[in-house]
Amino acid sequence: MSNRTVSLDDRLYDYLLAVSVREPRVLAELREETAKLPNAGMQISPEQGQFMRLLVELLGARRTLEIGVFTGYSALCVAQALPPDGELVACDVSEEYTNVARRYWQRAGLEQRIQLELGPALATLDRRIAAGEAGSYDFAFIDADKESYQAYYERCLQLLRQGGLIAIDNVLWGGSVADPENQKSSTLAIRALNSKLADDPRVSVSLIPIGDGLFLARKR
Ligand code: SAM
Ligand code: CA
Repeated sequence: MSNRTVSLDDRLYDYLLAVSVREPRVLAELREETAKLPNAGMQISPEQGQFMRLLVELLGARRTLEIGVFTGYSALCVAQALPPDGELVACDVSEEYTNVARRYWQRAGLEQRIQLELGPALATLDRRIAAGEAGSYDFAFIDADKESYQAYYERCLQLLRQGGLIAIDNVLWGGSVADPENQKSSTLAIRALNSKLADDPRVSVSLIPIGDGLFLARKR
């Protein structure tokens, strides 16, 4: 027993997956297809996908945002947890990756809940703010280019209603955020966002050590 978060060796991680992950077949197949791609590591883990489904259910979310779709795994998790009239605005720049995503969203029968916005996410978010959508979203997942994380966070905070939740991925960045010798632009950007969240009075926060680290920020 310990009063700090337990480290997961392979055996314990396999146990966690075996006793808790209920991955629908369509998601398992998407994971198998994505595993053949050179950038497969960009996909969230199945237990994180399930955790995000639970968050969306707990929030009773109807309007949601995703910044960084890749082959559509996290988007499909969120879409599955939405009510039939729910919607996910899914932002990505890659037609190639999102073609895979769209195939699986269709296969799951959920493509009508997901509105794909192809183009730089910052422009999409700014367009939606300009269109008067501030304060109207329940949940946002940020998982695109790390250098823009602060800008995405500020836009999502505007777009969220009071009590809405932002989940920001990869905030532990494989451990490099805690290595002072790592001065890569992506690491600096994640570190800066983490420091900002640490004492941002606009949100309540918790950093969850799931996957590569998931920062949760609830708008006050
Ligand atoms: N959430 C995805 C999942 O679970 O499978 C993984 C997302 S992957 C880490 C990051 C994605 O961000 C890539 O698909 C990339 O094309 C996209 N991206 C990079 N820069 C972007 C930008 N400026 N605007 C929108 N999307 C961007
Ligand atoms: Ca990620």
